[in-house]
Amino acid sequence: MTDRNKQYDVIVVGAGAAGLSAAVLLGRSKRRVLVVSLRGRRNSPADRVNNVPYAHGTAPAEVYRKMESDAAAYGVGFVWDEVLTARAGTESVVVDTRSSGSFSAGRLLLATGPIDDLPGWIPEGQWGRTVFDCPYCHTLEHDGASFVAVGTGEETLQHALLCRQYADGLTAVVSDPAAAGSALAGRLREKGGTLVVGTVRTASTLPSGELLLQTDKGTEITAGAVVLDTAVQRPNQALPEALGLELNPHGFPRTTLSGQTSHPRVYNTGKTNPSSPYFAWTGAASSGLNAARKISEDLAFG
Ligand SMILES: Cc1cc2nc3c(=O)[nH]c(=O)nc-3n(C[C@H](O)[C@H](O)[C@H](O)COP(=O)(O)OP(=O)(O)OC[C@H]3O[C@@H](n4cnc5c(N)ncnc54)[C@H](O)[C@@H]3O)c2cc1C
Repeated sequence: MTDRNKQYDVIVVGAGAAGLSAAVLLGRSKRRVLVVSLRGRRNSPADRVNNVPYAHGTAPAEVYRKMESDAAAYGVGFVWDEVLTARAGTESVVVDTRSSGSFSAGRLLLATGPIDDLPGWIPEGQWGRTVFDCPYCHTLEHDGASFVAVGTGEETLQHALLCRQYADGLTAVVSDPAAAGSALAGRLREKGGTLVVGTVRTASTLPSGELLLQTDKGTEITAGAVVLDTAVQRPNQALPEALGLELNPHGFPRTTLSGQTSHPRVYNTGKTNPSSPYFAWTGAASSGLNAARKISEDLAFG
C-alpha cells in the first residue's frame, strides 16, 4: 500500500539491482520505504542474467519479480511511475511523478542507473541478444561465434582481446586511426585478430541470425556477437540537476563509496562514474546495500 500523505523515511527512485537491494535492507531495518520506478532495467532486453549468484540463466524479469516480492514482504511500498523532478530541503525531500502525484520522505536514494545511448545502426531486438557493451555477461553464450568489437580505440581492442577465447573469428573496428599502431593492436594481430579502421554505419540481420555490419569505408563484416565500448552509457542527469547536486567530471552526481552526495538528504547508488569499483549487476546491488547502510546509520545517529 502506498500513501501520498505518508511521511516515508526513504524514497528510492529506481527498482533495479541497486535500488531493490537497498530497499530490502531498509525494509528489514523497519524503515518506511517507498520505491518509485519505471519497469525497464538496463538488462531487461537480455533473455537471461549471468554472473549473478543463484540466478545464472534466469530471465531478468523473474529476478526482479522475486526481489520486488522480497521487498514488499518487508513492508516496502511500490509506485510504478516516472519521477519527473525532485527537490530537497533541510527537513525533507519530495519527488513528483508523471501521474501518481508527489511523495515526501526524510531521505532520497537515487538508483536510476545510467542511460544507454545506443548507436542507431543496431537492428531492432538485437541489443542484449547479439549486441552488448560488456565482454563478460553474455559472451560465453556466443561461444564459437565470430566476434566483432566496435568502438573508438583502446577499449575496443581490450574488448576484442577479452573475447579471444570464445571467438571463431575476431575483428576490432576502431574509429581512431591512431589505435592501429598501438601495442594492443599488435597483440590483437598476434592472436589472429583483424583490425579495421572505420565507423560502423549500418547493420542488418542475416537469415543465420548473424549481423552484417558495414563501415563508412564500405567494409563488410559478419558478426555472431558484437561488443561495444562502454561509452554508450551516459549519466541520467535530470534528477541530480533538479536537486542541484554537484556532478563529477563525467556528469554523474559526485558520490562517496557509501552513496553520499553533496546534499545531506540525498544519496546516489549504482554506476556513478566510468571507473566505479561497483562492476556489473552484483556490483550495483552491492553499491545499493552500501548506500542503504549509510542511510540507516544517518537515520539512527541523526
Ligand atoms: C543488455 C544488458 C545485459 C546485461 N546483462 C548482465 C548480466 O547478465 N549480468 C550482470 O552482472 N550484468 C548485466 N548487465 C549490467 C546490469 O544490468 C547493470 O549493471 C545493472 O542493471 C545496474 O543496476 P542499477 O540498479 O544501477 O540500474 P538499472 O538496472 O538500470 O535500474 C534503474 C531503474 O531506475 C529506473 N528509472 C530510471 N530513471 C527513472 C525515473 N526518472 N523515474 C523512475 N524510474 C527511473 C529504471 O527504469 C530502472 O528500473 C547487463 C547490461 C545490459 C545493458
